[in-house]
Amino acid sequence: MTDYYSTADEIAESGCETAILPAGSTEQHGPHLPVCADTLLAAAIGERLAEKISAVLLPAIPYSTCREHMGKKGSVWMNADTFYRMMWDICESLEYQGYKRVILVQGHGGIFVMTPFIRDFNAKHGKIKIIRPEDNMRPYDWSGILESPPLHSCEMETSLMLYLSEKSVRKL
Ligand SMILES: [Zn+2]
Repeated sequence: MTDYYSTADEIAESGCETAILPAGSTEQHGPHLPVCADTLLAAAIGERLAEKISAVLLPAIPYSTCREHMGKKGSVWMNADTFYRMMWDICESLEYQGYKRVILVQGHGGIFVMTPFIRDFNAKHGKIKIIRPEDNMRPYDWSGILESPPLHSCEMETSLMLYLSEKSVRKL
């Protein structure tokens, strides 16, 4: 696996044609989880995925669109068109570098502009395919595993954070 701790030569020598880009958010996560939860989870999933398929892991994007959480201090958001343009530039640079596909690991469900971005980019750039694992997870039957449905700051998110960073979960 190569990642952002690799040198440019190591990344070139790896011959990897797939880049993994985690996208998180900095936003309130209730009284028990830190504001970095979505970014940390997206980065962790991206890291494991990169190991499994020998892809190049990019740094997780810590900001996206979370205006719905603006009432709570600690949330930081950007406008949807800014996020769209930023993603466009990142993916165009990856295409220029010779990557054949980008896998987006979306840690924050509220990045609604991601769907039109993926459609537009894939329609105009035949080379890069953007895949979003979250779409494959949604129809999964969580009954028997979770007592409550997956939502913001939910049982699933809290369980994953306990696994990845127990000290950051407040025991209320
Ligand atoms: Zn979250």
